Amino acid sequence: MDTPLFQPIPGMVDLTAPEVLLWQHLEEQARQLLPLYGFSEIRTPALEYTPVFTRSLGETTDVVQKEMYTFADRGGRSLTLRPEGTAGVIRYAAGQGAAAEGARLYYLGPMFRCERPQAGRKRQFHQLGVESFGEPNPAADVEVIALQQHLFQSWGLHAFTIDINTRGLPEDRPAVTAGLAAAARPHLDALCADCRRRFDTNIFRLLDCKQAACRQVVDTLPDPASFMSAPSRVYLAEVVRLLQGLNLPVRVNPRLVRGLDYYIHTVWEIRHPALGAQDALSGGGRYRVTLDTKPFDGVGFAAGLERAVMAVQHDQPDRLAALQPPRPVWLVALGPAAREANLRLAQELRQGGCACGLDLGDRSLKAQLRAANRVGAAWAVLRGDRELAAGTATLKNLQDGTQVELPLADVVTKLNAVKGRGTTS
Ligand code: AMP
Repeated sequence: MDTPLFQPIPGMVDLTAPEVLLWQHLEEQARQLLPLYGFSEIRTPALEYTPVFTRSLGETTDVVQKEMYTFADRGGRSLTLRPEGTAGVIRYAAGQGAAAEGARLYYLGPMFRCERPQAGRKRQFHQLGVESFGEPNPAADVEVIALQQHLFQSWGLHAFTIDINTRGLPEDRPAVTAGLAAAARPHLDALCADCRRRFDTNIFRLLDCKQAACRQVVDTLPDPASFMSAPSRVYLAEVVRLLQGLNLPVRVNPRLVRGLDYYIHTVWEIRHPALGAQDALSGGGRYRVTLDTKPFDGVGFAAGLERAVMAVQHDQPDRLAALQPPRPVWLVALGPAAREANLRLAQELRQGGCACGLDLGDRSLKAQLRAANRVGAAWAVLRGDRELAAGTATLKNLQDGTQVELPLADVVTKLNAVKGRGTTS
């Protein structure tokens, strides 16, 4: 059956008022806070050549194997709608050469993953992310974790928890893989089909499988860090020590791996209990990505805005109501001359910063006042031929029904002073 064309693609939604006010608010808070940490915005294209993602995220990750929207352009080159933001930012930085060293960039925009849509899991979703480029340094990781905590607090979130772990260095991987494989091999039959495949392709993926049977096996496995080299373990210990120095409450979770392969050393995830099964508000970590020849080191995070909005609605149930736009003043015209004059008056009031609306058609006084009530206007300004000739207007308080006729200039002054709010003196 054909889907009606007025419906969006499953897993993609139209964002409108009133929730969009909360989106705008979170975005504004972020745009104020990120420059305090030296981050400036980058807007990369939504579409990239496919290897930008396959090379950086890892060929065996779920995102690359199952979730990318990939297609050929007219010339036959493979293109992919970005499933995450880091790879595009690194592609940009790689093109800048030395100029990008130490760069701090943030992005905000839609990402695309062809997953099964469910609560908290969309096919088009939005991420706010930061990337801080530079050599591995525990202090740089801690600074980004602290920024994230600050950001979430500025959004009014308080119920979140921060889990951190280490992925170690690339040179640790053979030892960790061998150690985990030896421990998991006797339980292979108990694992789900995906995990049996992961056992051969990327054993780390086992650790974050959500299937109950796999979790039971995973609980018996040793801590991957126990197979890592001393520098990797020392790095994690230093991150934890510095976080404690900032009084940042984190939990070291040895099972945390994150879904992408570019991570080295520190990884973290922030969860919020109001989000249900998809409770990750954001994830981050230190990465090393080689797009061409030169490896790129950095640390960053990406927060999901759909989930952030849900969490804010939970932690701050009154926040949305406080963000409602100002109530408009409603201009009511009695006759065509007043209607035309009201178009000019509306412009004058709006340029003075006062929200206002008017009926552009030829409707009765009653219908115009009904429209004013429908939009919640606190004030109406009424004019007809008589008021036009006298240079006056009637200002009507729509809450208590009282009204007064004043010179038009006085009405404008009063309304500009209250910007449409409930009372004037
Ligand atoms: P990831 O890179 O997969 O860890 O994603 C980082 C954050 O983006 C997650 O913690 C979520 O908040 C959000 N996110 C990831 N995938 C989706 C999705 N399909 N729908 C909604 N939010 C998502």
